[in-house]
Amino acid sequence: MAQKLLRPPGAASEKEFLALCIQCGQCMAACPHNSIKPHRSFNKNRHSMEIEPAKTPCYLCMKCPPVCPTSALNEKCTDMRQANMGQAYILEKHCHNFNNGVMCSTCYDRCPLRGHAMVLELGFIPRHTDACVGCGVCEYVCPVNAIVTIASPSFESDISQEENLKRKSERNKNTTPPTGALKTLTT
Ligand code: SF4
Ligand code: SF4
Ligand code: SF4
Repeated sequence: MAQKLLRPPGAASEKEFLALCIQCGQCMAACPHNSIKPHRSFNKNRHSMEIEPAKTPCYLCMKCPPVCPTSALNEKCTDMRQANMGQAYILEKHCHNFNNGVMCSTCYDRCPLRGHAMVLELGFIPRHTDACVGCGVCEYVCPVNAIVTIASPSFESDISQEENLKRKSERNKNTTPPTGALKTLTT
């Protein structure tokens, strides 16, 4: 199955998003960073709105959800902590800090939710937490391509936006995440 595309902040579940988005381009026009682009393909995602962090991430300014006329993006989603786009992962075998003793905190420094979505374990090891919303800024700025951003998995994208926001809001009550919530990939 093809990887789900990373949608703009506040997107409805994938099925609903594809049904609701009329491809009017208003979210694209509202984005000051040119982060939102129509997907180029000949499958069901053709011309649907996506974000490709490796090219241009979302900076979580939250200007796009309020302009969507169809609720494909939830107009009430104006808090960056509820953007709920996906989750970033660190590829340990590529990250400086896990390998060659070079200290790098670029991802941590640039995360819009620094200290919540991204923490420095022991003061120097970057870790994503469940508060990560998948904006992809950390992927974009990593100098050694050690981060990948993955859209909300299908089990999350198939539940309602309301439920998603409720879950995210619950997660964000904890500003210091438990160790079990830390996200890295070791492969
Ligand atoms: S939140 Fe801001 S930066 Fe992100 S896609 Fe929407 S308008 Fe662009
Ligand atoms: S503003 Fe809404 S309906 Fe228009 S292209 Fe963006 S997501 Fe689709
Ligand atoms: S950890 Fe990365 S993807 Fe997650 S919110 Fe921060 S910059 Fe965005």
